[in-house]
Amino acid sequence: MKAHDGMYIDGDWRPAAGTESISVVNPADEQVIGQVPAGTAEDVDAAVRAARAALPGWAATPPAERAARLAALRDVLAARKEEIAETVTAELGSPLEFSRLVHAGVPIAVAGSYAELAAEYAFEEQVGNSRVLLEPVGVVGAITPWNYPLHQIVAKAGPALAAGCTLVLKPAEDTPLTAQLFAEAVHEAGIPAGVFNLVTGLGPVAGQALAEHEGVDLVSFTGSTAVGRAIGATAGAAVKRVALELGGKSANVVLPGADLAKAVNVGVANVMSNTGQTCSAWTRLLVHEDSYEEAVGLAAAAAAKYGDRIGPVVNAKQHERVRGYIAKGVAEGARLVAGGPEAPREHGYYVSPTVFADVTPEMTIAQEEIFGPVLSILKYRDEDEAVRIANGTVYGLAGAVWAADEETAVAFARRLDTGQVDINGGRFNPRAPFGGYKQSGVGRELGAHGLTEYLQTKSLQL
Ligand code: NAP
Ligand code: MG
Repeated sequence: MKAHDGMYIDGDWRPAAGTESISVVNPADEQVIGQVPAGTAEDVDAAVRAARAALPGWAATPPAERAARLAALRDVLAARKEEIAETVTAELGSPLEFSRLVHAGVPIAVAGSYAELAAEYAFEEQVGNSRVLLEPVGVVGAITPWNYPLHQIVAKAGPALAAGCTLVLKPAEDTPLTAQLFAEAVHEAGIPAGVFNLVTGLGPVAGQALAEHEGVDLVSFTGSTAVGRAIGATAGAAVKRVALELGGKSANVVLPGADLAKAVNVGVANVMSNTGQTCSAWTRLLVHEDSYEEAVGLAAAAAAKYGDRIGPVVNAKQHERVRGYIAKGVAEGARLVAGGPEAPREHGYYVSPTVFADVTPEMTIAQEEIFGPVLSILKYRDEDEAVRIANGTVYGLAGAVWAADEETAVAFARRLDTGQVDINGGRFNPRAPFGGYKQSGVGRELGAHGLTEYLQTKSLQL
């Protein structure tokens, strides 16, 4: 795999300040596929200075021109789709077809949506005798995880660039090659020097330096709730804007009268896709007691079909962690109906698609984010109990509701404390706001709502 031995700062690949590097490992065979430099506070400082210097020019660039650059970026990503898919597969381990469709396909769509939004968004509005100006927040520090390596970068860079902000990205240590490829695409798209900058490195070093840097006006973070809490505290102390996209433990609720087989099969596919490493995955399936055993049988059969078709989890630490949760589920008395904690292959960080029945709401596997191919099936007796169970975690990121008709499902969805709900299998919308209630986060990404995170308002009384 191609890897740059430098940081993309001020429109150029520059040598890192330090000499440490990060080995990138293919989780499917545990082989090292590349090295990237491990950035320090010095690299972060150089990148923030470049972003700060580029800010006045980019903020003053007419939205139509920013839109044209974003459209060019979308076109470069589309032209390099196969390379993106191969890079994500090499460092994350997802099957190539999934990498093409989702890891490359979704960010191309999102980049396109921000090219359109930059052109059509009203950056000025009239309120009575006031003219309200929506101005860029300034320099953005973006910190992203490995599970959707390009999507999570574009979900921040797209709206930041559309808004007129400049940014510094610190991507996950496990997936820096995809981030380097994105920096190449930014360059090819003719986005001016300093507007986008990349510092690869470790979270507690480069990530923390970026979150703490006084030259950063907004920190946008996606990842674990533990790190998000610390970043939120740092930003709060500095009275600085912050956006947090954190964990989830979403519920897939099947109401009586719904198409049970469809709800269960789509639900299992949702949890197994990307090997369960999706913050919005519907990891808890809630079924009425009358259909419970039928649903368990359907889910076990569906999971067994996935067998060899899912990729590994991202690294050795996650391999241990996910299998530890499965062992904990067994120890706490849940009934294993598919998979289990044993590693199914000798090499690579593989985990068996796993399904637990007889899961009760207080069990660890029903409360904590596992981030692996593990589904928990819970039983409810009436709608009120289903609402209580669905809302009974610290998270509130996503969810699904299935019913005989849309109206019933929508009425139930209104009672859920969560940021996004798919009704009877409603399809992904790249312009729909995405983000968490409760400890799943602060702020929204995607579409016009995502754009407003990168804007601040000034009102002129005329
Ligand atoms: P993480 O540590 O929160 O990583 C997310 C990003 O934050 C990475 O770029 C990471 O860098 C960086 N980071 C880590 N510590 C930091 C610090 N002190 N200051 C600033 N930045 C910091 O998540 P993880 O360790 O990769 O995964 C752990 C768990 O988080 C998973 O099992 C899963 O439950 C959850 N998770 C959730 C999401 C989501 O989308 N909601 C995504 C990924 C993980 P490094 O890569 O160098 O650590
Ligand atoms: Mg980490």
